[in-house]
Amino acid sequence: MLVRADHLKTSDNPAFVALLDQLHHREVRLSDEQHLLLKYLDAWQLDYLGDYRAARASLTAIIRDAPDPTLRFRATATLINVLGAVHRYEDAFAQLNQLIEQLPRITDREPRWQGLGEIAQLLTAAGQYDLATSYARQMMDVIPSGETACKASYFIEHARYSSGQLDKDDQEAQQAIDNCASAGESVFANALRADLASMQIQAGHPGKAAALLEKHYSSVRHDQYQITTLRFDALLAQAYLAMGQSSKARTYALAAWQASTPGEFTDPLRMACKTLYQIDQQRGDFKSALSWHARYMEADKAYLDDVSAKAMAYQVVKQQVQARKAEVDALAKRNRILQLQRALDRKAMEASRLYIVVLALGLLAIGLWLLRLKRSQLQFMRMAQCDSLTGIYNRKHFMSEAEHALLYAERSGRRASLVLIDLDHFKLINDTYGHATGDQVLRRAVQACQEYMRSTDVFGRLGGEEFGVLLPECALDAGIERAEAIRRAIAALRGQEEPDVAISASFGVAFTGESGYELRQLLMDADHALYRAKRAGRNCVVAGKAGEGMVVA
Ligand code: GH3
Ligand code: MG
Ligand code: MG
Repeated sequence: MLVRADHLKTSDNPAFVALLDQLHHREVRLSDEQHLLLKYLDAWQLDYLGDYRAARASLTAIIRDAPDPTLRFRATATLINVLGAVHRYEDAFAQLNQLIEQLPRITDREPRWQGLGEIAQLLTAAGQYDLATSYARQMMDVIPSGETACKASYFIEHARYSSGQLDKDDQEAQQAIDNCASAGESVFANALRADLASMQIQAGHPGKAAALLEKHYSSVRHDQYQITTLRFDALLAQAYLAMGQSSKARTYALAAWQASTPGEFTDPLRMACKTLYQIDQQRGDFKSALSWHARYMEADKAYLDDVSAKAMAYQVVKQQVQARKAEVDALAKRNRILQLQRALDRKAMEASRLYIVVLALGLLAIGLWLLRLKRSQLQFMRMAQCDSLTGIYNRKHFMSEAEHALLYAERSGRRASLVLIDLDHFKLINDTYGHATGDQVLRRAVQACQEYMRSTDVFGRLGGEEFGVLLPECALDAGIERAEAIRRAIAALRGQEEPDVAISASFGVAFTGESGYELRQLLMDADHALYRAKRAGRNCVVAGKAGEGMVVA
């Protein structure tokens, strides 16, 4: 019954009202959802009858309470109609925006159809004819079952009429009227007939207009759709006046005047007042004419105010929506900037962490590099100071260390001895066993010497197979003793090595008590002693200056 009633709203309004009545008798048996739908249909009828205050309250409650988005959408669509009727145009356009926003989510044909119709109607009222037509055309794609294209074509034709594009014998409009009539949609057929009649009167064919309006007058009365009824009366009055039938004209004009809601200044009311003023003027009843003229002026002004109020409200809401959109865009941009800022901060933190790591690694690398540098410096120093074959001091370093030690010994008044060592027949060893063996003999001989060295002794390789040892705190006897021990150690190397090489060395010893603390002198004296040791048959120690030297072993 609810669905049936829903379909009958405009096509058979009295039947719809009867169904509503029946439904109210069964109200207790309705579910919550059905109850809300019935409440919506009641509100729709209140709007239809012009009880806008009650309709508005009821629709607002439905929009607030209904869980079904589609019913909320439908209630919004009807509320827009009500708000338009009570001249709350800004509210109406604000709701219209809501409706347009919801539109993509509404997939059911019926509510889409209804919503699009409401949008087209309000946009026409605001003078936005092209926009209205485009929404009306969208209706053609969603014609619900049980409906026809009538309502959509009505909006299209009415927009054409409102924008002055309708012709007095307009074929397209006539087609729409016929379609609506055959679909039983007399409300829309009659509304378009009024449009067409209006064009005929303007074109100087009042007879044609009167015939058209009279023919469908009873149908309009039956529909009880207030605005169309008013238009028919006002247009008939206008037509008859133009035809010179002022008495008929007066009857219809008064009917329009009386049927108008007090305080509502519609276009038909304005027309009716004008007609009544013209009739009285023709009759010579100037007093009455003056009072109708005053009413006409009042209605005319109010009507024109209303027209511009609609257009103004449309622009105001449009601006508001644009401003809101701009605000939302600005907010979105600000958000984006904040996000970027945060991301940037994060990146900066990561980067600074990276810097710290890189810095730490850099410092570590520098530290390691310094360490290696120090090590290689030490290595170079050793290389500069030591002999590469035997590892003991080279000649240059031996000289400087020995001079140092002698200086210290001289200052502290201590004695020192200098021993020169030269391997015997070393050339022969080289020639007999090869250079590599010669090197090996040199290393072994040095090792044998080192076992008899104290930490304070200065030991160095002075040339090929010649070595020097400065023995601090060593008097001549002790020096000779030390040299003798070393000689024995070197001689003892024989038989320990492969091949069996005859190894021995000759020793020359000088001491500070005889030669002084000059290294050059000590070396010279020790060399002389060494020469004598060689002359004496080698593998022996000779100490002291020539002549007074003594030969040991
Ligand atoms: P003498 O008993 O009179 O000292 O005879 P000698 O053969 O030891 O004396 P000479 O000075 O004639 O020979 C020294 C040889 O030492 C000459 C040289 O070939 C050798 N020689 C010098 N430096 C090295 C070295 O580093 N390695 C080797 N294998 N032989 C060397
Ligand atoms: Mg030599
Ligand atoms: Mg030699």
